[in-house]
Amino acid sequence: MKISFPHMSPVIVYKRLLEMFGHEVVVPPTPTQKTFDLGVKHSPEFACFPLKVILGSYIEAIEMGAQMIMTSGGHGPCRAGYYGELHSRILKNLGYDVEIVIIDAIFPKFNDFIKKARKITNGASIFKVAKVFKVVYNLSKAIDRIEKRIEKMRAYEVNEGDCDKVWDKILKKFDKVNTIAEVEAIEKEAYGMLDNVPVVKVEEDSKIRVGVIGEIYVVMESSVNMEIEKTLGKLGVETERSQYLSDWIEHNIIPKFMRDKKIDNIIDEGKEFIEIEIGGHAVENVGYIKHFKERGFDGIIHLMPFGCLPELVNQSIVPTIIEKFDLPVLTIPIDEQTGKANNQTRIEAFVDLIKGKKELRLNNGKSKIS
Ligand code: SF4
Repeated sequence: MKISFPHMSPVIVYKRLLEMFGHEVVVPPTPTQKTFDLGVKHSPEFACFPLKVILGSYIEAIEMGAQMIMTSGGHGPCRAGYYGELHSRILKNLGYDVEIVIIDAIFPKFNDFIKKARKITNGASIFKVAKVFKVVYNLSKAIDRIEKRIEKMRAYEVNEGDCDKVWDKILKKFDKVNTIAEVEAIEKEAYGMLDNVPVVKVEEDSKIRVGVIGEIYVVMESSVNMEIEKTLGKLGVETERSQYLSDWIEHNIIPKFMRDKKIDNIIDEGKEFIEIEIGGHAVENVGYIKHFKERGFDGIIHLMPFGCLPELVNQSIVPTIIEKFDLPVLTIPIDEQTGKANNQTRIEAFVDLIKGKKELRLNNGKSKIS
């Protein structure tokens, strides 16, 4: 049976997971305007934008032969918990014969979880399941470490696009890994390749850093966020996101007593501003603003999908945060109309603002900007 999944970077991790369990995998194409149009056409108008893009992406995967789709569920006030069921009904009404396997929390429906997990793991033994998950988890961590380095380097590369060429080569190599040793060897090779990328030397004090926060899908999937990190890199800005796949795995799958407490601590910081659970990553995002401020970042770009309640609430808190942390925040709404050209001027103006602010600070309040 051919199996697919929602297109959310880095797709190589989900692809390897399914392939290592012996599935024939259909990788959905990178979302384009055609994907958005398909999703928008067949979704309820008021649905949040990620639901529409993912629906369009499913239709493209089904047209490529996918018979089963693996996705995650959700709980709490955010709509993500309904995605699987809603997508399933829409696709059925459109006449598509596809099974959507929604992986939810282990409890309270333990038997249901095991039934679905066995479909995904193709009936593999517990030893094989543990081995595959270890490889895939290490792969996600390696990918995130390399990407974090590239997000910094892009700002200083002499020849625009050099880092991305390395990134593409490395992803192709990761696409074939079967063991942790192979992941480690490729990661080492990646750093060697990046060390050879010519970069401009910039004083540590003059570096401009921007944190990219917001709803998980639009933060992680560059095809829907105007490739925000590349756009900022070209403007000489280092970036770091609030969402990485390995952090998500660490926080959502690894038991609390075993995991790194970074995300738990960031969520605790966010509770100063949002005391109750409102869904999505709203509380975590606010915590990240504080986290980035404490690490000396110069500004925040907040990505908010159309129809997203948690991020709408966050947007209303942004003025308080700007005042409290003296940190510029630019909120960019994301929908099917969002294009690079639409937002380029806003992003450039924002970068000019934070550069000017930094220069003012470095010159003890005397700006060189006339
Ligand atoms: S966080 Fe927002 S965009 Fe994402 S599923 Fe929930 S409501 Fe939709």
